[in-house]
Amino acid sequence: MTEGERSGYLDFLRERREQILQRVADACRRAGRTTDDVTILGVSKTVGVDEVALAWQAGWRAFAENRPQELTRKLEGLREHPEMSGVRFDMIGNLQTNKINQVIGRVGLIHSISSAHLAEAVSKRSVAHGIVSDVLLEVNVSGEESKSGFAPTEVEQALDGLLGLPGIRVRGLMTMAPAHDADAARRTFSGLRELRDELSARSGRSLATLSAGMSDDFQVAIEEGSTIVRLGRTLFSPDYDLR
Ligand SMILES: *Cc1c(COP(=O)(O)O)cnc(C)c1O
Repeated sequence: MTEGERSGYLDFLRERREQILQRVADACRRAGRTTDDVTILGVSKTVGVDEVALAWQAGWRAFAENRPQELTRKLEGLREHPEMSGVRFDMIGNLQTNKINQVIGRVGLIHSISSAHLAEAVSKRSVAHGIVSDVLLEVNVSGEESKSGFAPTEVEQALDGLLGLPGIRVRGLMTMAPAHDADAARRTFSGLRELRDELSARSGRSLATLSAGMSDDFQVAIEEGSTIVRLGRTLFSPDYDLR
């Protein structure tokens, strides 16, 4: 990027940030919630290190990637930005067991624990590294074939075993809603919250974190209890029309 492009993009990021924070505040108010309970992640998978550094300058503090290789690239590139040494990256995408070592110990939270097999593998690698990894269980609430994650009944059956794994701490649940259908999205988000309430009551664990909502549906997600929204296009792309 040229200097002119950088400053133009930074202006965009700052203005868009104000608009996003306003919408988050409005959604919290409608739901009787406080904005302190909602974390906004900038999903940086489609942008480069320069754009992430500018987003930091605009005020964003937490980001997310969906591929281990790209996570590594971003973390290496950001070493040239010492001001960002405290940056948080989360892993939100499909994780293969042979890539676990690229992720554990480097991310704030792994959102995409989609099977008991993966949970066991992450636990085992974490124990080997002497750490405990914070994770979310990804649940396919909407039941779409294309989506990964535990089926709701599966997670009910697997929960006790997962809570007993020594290398992970289960913080809550994550889901993806059907695209282009606001009613289906709302049902998915409320379904996630109800499932969490049931699992929490049964296990005695708070499972407080609900990662739900992306550019097209984050306002509905917050109304339905989401505590982490994952924003890609609306945060980074001037072409995206924020409503
Ligand atoms: C890409 C991605 C997002 C962000 O999507 P936008 O619609 O661009 O906000 C959120 N969550 C996951 C898991 C993603 O892969």
